[in-house]
Amino acid sequence: MDFALGPGLLEVQGRARQAATEVVAPLARRADEEGVFSRDVIAELARRGLLDHSLGALPMSLIYEELGRVDSSVRGCLTVQVGLVARCLVDWGSAAQKREWLPRLASAEALGCYALTEPEAGSDAKALKTRAVHTGDGWAITGTKHWITNGGVADVALLFAQAEEGLTAFVAPTDTPGFGRRPMAGRELGHRGSNHALLEFADMRLPATAILDEPGAGFKVAMGALGHGRLGVAAGALGVLQACLDASVDFARKRRQFGRRIGDFQMIQAALADMAADGAAARLLVREAAWLRDSGQDNALAVAVAKLFCTEAALRAADQAILIHGGRGYSNEYPVERYWRDAKGMQIYEGTAHIQRVIIARQLLGRDEAAGS
Ligand SMILES: Cc1cc2nc3c(=O)[nH]c(=O)nc-3n(C[C@H](O)[C@H](O)[C@H](O)COP(=O)(O)OP(=O)(O)OC[C@H]3O[C@@H](n4cnc5c(N)ncnc54)[C@H](O)[C@@H]3O)c2cc1C
Repeated sequence: MDFALGPGLLEVQGRARQAATEVVAPLARRADEEGVFSRDVIAELARRGLLDHSLGALPMSLIYEELGRVDSSVRGCLTVQVGLVARCLVDWGSAAQKREWLPRLASAEALGCYALTEPEAGSDAKALKTRAVHTGDGWAITGTKHWITNGGVADVALLFAQAEEGLTAFVAPTDTPGFGRRPMAGRELGHRGSNHALLEFADMRLPATAILDEPGAGFKVAMGALGHGRLGVAAGALGVLQACLDASVDFARKRRQFGRRIGDFQMIQAALADMAADGAAARLLVREAAWLRDSGQDNALAVAVAKLFCTEAALRAADQAILIHGGRGYSNEYPVERYWRDAKGMQIYEGTAHIQRVIIARQLLGRDEAAGS
């Protein structure tokens, strides 16, 4: 067993860290304050080769971790673009769909979104109400999605609808007549530099070739995409945790009270040590889940464990980081309050912490054949 990153992975990690520092970090605070999503930032990351869907899960997780250290909104955009959309097209798309969209997604000429959640169907994706009805030569789609990351700016949507054959996935250009979108109501707690939209499909016509995989395969496609996406969220949360630790160590070295560094107080030391221990465990979970994927093994359980642990460890770290910074931590003079607001979102999207626990517990308990559950 080798825990070291080889030269290729170190190169990707270094490139991602440099891009995070040079391109993303300078704009992160303003993007959060003003709720600005920057397409230019994503295009620059693409120019630096960071949206390459042909990279494996391990290199991508290093990219998400580095971006997560500075801005979860940008990291979230990439996880959708690469993990939920491009990787899903790689796994299930037709040759024509791949030809049309993959190069444009990798260069950020096109942005993608993943439209599963509906007002009445969140955790229970099978309950979604969007309908896909056969027309002579294709499909008519009617329904509403909400909380769709990149939804207001995307050029292509992977969307899920109920057809006669069951849940079905479609690839829809967002300039298709009948594709409506508008900003979400209210203001988000975190991920304020993301673009979240409500989508409305009003008798939107799609050709038969718009189907991903085959009619009725939508649940498999949706869960396959979430397998990539959840690992991206776990890696991004690890980045947040690391940022909290770095900021807290730095602050604990500099801030003096009672005539000494606050880092010399044992309660502060304990908080830092707990964060470091969580970080080490989180990193191993992400690396293992990514390695399983890249070596062709089933990683569904490892991804659920990583997503659950990393997002909750990031929240614990951000909570402690705010406390360690005292009053300063409670203001956006320092980034730790943003880390907390962003980490809370990660505990919710792409399957809440409850749902990750359901997945893990199901593996422990097996199916109840008698109840058919
Ligand atoms: C920042 C952000 C970005 C998002 N981006 C996207 C996106 O790009 N695409 C997309 O499709 N969606 C997106 N979402 C939506 C997100 O995936 C859903 O909010 C999430 O899956 C939960 O669904 P819900 O909000 O309807 O809550 P519900 O499913 O109604 O859940 C409410 C509560 O009940 C709990 N619960 C539900 N079922 C169970 C159960 N079986 N056992 C125990 N507890 C349960 C939940 O854990 C939660 O605590 C995003 C959300 C956020 C906040």
